[in-house]
Amino acid sequence: MTAKGKISENMVENKTKGRELQAYCPDCRRDREHVVVVSVDTYFSEDFNEYSGISAEDNYQVIKCRCGCLSFRHLNWFSEFQDQEASGYTEILYPPRKPDSLPVKKFQNVPTLISKIYEETIKTFNDGSYTLCAAGLRVIVEGICEVNGVKDGPVTRQQKDGSDKDCRSNRLEGKIYGLCEKDILTKKSADMLHEHRFLGNGAVHDLAEPGERELRIAIELIEHILEDIFVMPQKAETLKKIRLRAKIKSVDPA
Ligand SMILES: [Zn+2]
Repeated sequence: MTAKGKISENMVENKTKGRELQAYCPDCRRDREHVVVVSVDTYFSEDFNEYSGISAEDNYQVIKCRCGCLSFRHLNWFSEFQDQEASGYTEILYPPRKPDSLPVKKFQNVPTLISKIYEETIKTFNDGSYTLCAAGLRVIVEGICEVNGVKDGPVTRQQKDGSDKDCRSNRLEGKIYGLCEKDILTKKSADMLHEHRFLGNGAVHDLAEPGERELRIAIELIEHILEDIFVMPQKAETLKKIRLRAKIKSVDPA
């Protein structure tokens, strides 16, 4: 016979370790198989009388996707949430999953500070902090100029009489064309970045929140530029070395 008002509580480690489950992976950006790597599992029950009571179980789990991405899952089961239609389970994943969230891409050879700002910028986008995200994109562009020693660049200014005058500017606009001048960026990318620059300016100085779609495009552009400036030259260099080694071997097989 169950004692009236009896409360049971316990906490164990790794009761659900090794359990397999399906969850949305923020890196793979789709539902994938995960496994519980470590868990803390709690149980609670209270008997009101011989025939009725409530019970609950909580599983706090570190879960791992097949891609290696680790995240946190809290699975709760509560007897009072269970009926003929409901299982009684509630699942919460951390960080929260948004199917349209952007992945943080891994770029090789990008200076640590730039890649850190890039990572934070993507996170602010996924959190919906669009003004900060736009400011972050602007800082990335400044960073690209800085590591390439670009302090200024050519711009065209319209005069009072309507005529154009070529000059140099050390503002971001000038620096963007300075990247182009040094053959670090193509003219097409510089023009596109120029549009992006206004986004950064608007966000920081006028506190105008840029649109989500506009930011997605700007982020995509920055990712292409990071790839072009830092990743591709490294790949080309590696390829050159491989070809050179192959050539030496073919000339001198010994
Ligand atoms: Zn994954």
